[in-house]
Amino acid sequence: MALALGSWAPARAEGGLETLMTNGPCGNRLDVVFFSEGYTSAECGQFSADAPSALEALLAKQPYTAYRSHFNAFAVFAASAQSGSDHPKLGIARDTYFNSTYDPAGDYVITIPETADGAGKLDALLQQWLPAFQTNRDLVVVLVNDAARGGSGGPRIITSKGATWEEVLVHESGHTLGRLGDEYEEPTPGFEHPGLEFPNVTTNTTLARIPWKVWIDPATPLPTPEDDLQYWDVIGLFEGANYSSTGWYRPKYDCLMRTTFSWSRFCEVCQEALVLAIRERVRPGEDFLPASTNLVVGLGQRLAFSVALVQPEGQTVRVQWCTNGMPVAGATHAAFVLEGAALAPGPHTVQARLEDHTAFVRSDPAGRLSQVQTWHIERIGLRLDPPRVLGGGDCYVRVSGHATGEVVLEGSTDLAAWQRLLTNGLEEGEWRFTNRCVPSHGFFRAVTTP
Ligand SMILES: [Zn+2]
Repeated sequence: MALALGSWAPARAEGGLETLMTNGPCGNRLDVVFFSEGYTSAECGQFSADAPSALEALLAKQPYTAYRSHFNAFAVFAASAQSGSDHPKLGIARDTYFNSTYDPAGDYVITIPETADGAGKLDALLQQWLPAFQTNRDLVVVLVNDAARGGSGGPRIITSKGATWEEVLVHESGHTLGRLGDEYEEPTPGFEHPGLEFPNVTTNTTLARIPWKVWIDPATPLPTPEDDLQYWDVIGLFEGANYSSTGWYRPKYDCLMRTTFSWSRFCEVCQEALVLAIRERVRPGEDFLPASTNLVVGLGQRLAFSVALVQPEGQTVRVQWCTNGMPVAGATHAAFVLEGAALAPGPHTVQARLEDHTAFVRSDPAGRLSQVQTWHIERIGLRLDPPRVLGGGDCYVRVSGHATGEVVLEGSTDLAAWQRLLTNGLEEGEWRFTNRCVPSHGFFRAVTTP
């Protein structure tokens, strides 16, 4: 086939990568990538407007707002031959890049095939544009250019541009990131999860067995009456969740995992799960210096340590520096200096202990809010006892202390020029020897080899 150059421009199948927001290295940020689905090449500009809107919609809800600096965001445009998506219930089929479709029963749940025709294309684009992206820790959002309401969570978020699509996107992120369950009670055949508990959905009614028990005031009745206004803003045990109006319970009267109105918010229990999910991916500290964790320091030397804190709103990450496991008073800044003179010769440790004291989390059994960086320090130092002159012209010398390498005994007659006499290692912190060459020098010193 011959191309008539200049007469037409072939539609670009992949429009490329657009960076929406960077806050740090991809390896220590939650990277979000928005993909276009059902946008024709003529609608590329529309996607360029929709992707940042979707990002801001996500970051407009807590706890994402507070943790905004923990995200990077990108957009990848892939042109579809036709606009929209398939609606099998309505007999509508459209030729789109990722072959998305609404479900045939409810015309709401949007999926793409987990094959080369769908997810495979998505993975190939990730490989091409964002090789550092990790599908098991980062977030893929497929924006479907269709006006009918719908979406899905799971390994990736899919959302259309139907009514309250921004809230649908945030709701689905609760499933994908926080592994949260649905708090609504309308039966939806095929989507019930019998016997499966979630951080925000349970069948347990005794306080000790409720996953969010630390959020429940002892005065709050369990189950919590739904028709009593005084409990609408507290955490309790409300019946109706997981597609069932009986036998399943949720933490709060309302939550984004239950309703997707523009004013809906995640309840405290769901916020906690999401902050733990963010902290699982984004550690509180990065750029630890020195980069090497095995260091040597001498008597008159000092070592400078530092860490960059990845702070949410409110600057809730704090650091405590410790030597040999003990906190150093006042050492709570991003930088710390260790004086060799403050340590006895021998092995030591320096630690930066970081913790996010966020109010979003009350229970952190896996320790995701804390981080410890440890450096191993060898404090080197030698002691040379005054040489003792023995009978027969011999001299007894003892060197003790701590060295990482060999120890050299040097002699001098004027304290200016030093001559290497003997080299040896310390055995259990000591080197004793008797030698005839020593008495010919007036002064001696022991030094470590570098
Ligand atoms: Zn919730």
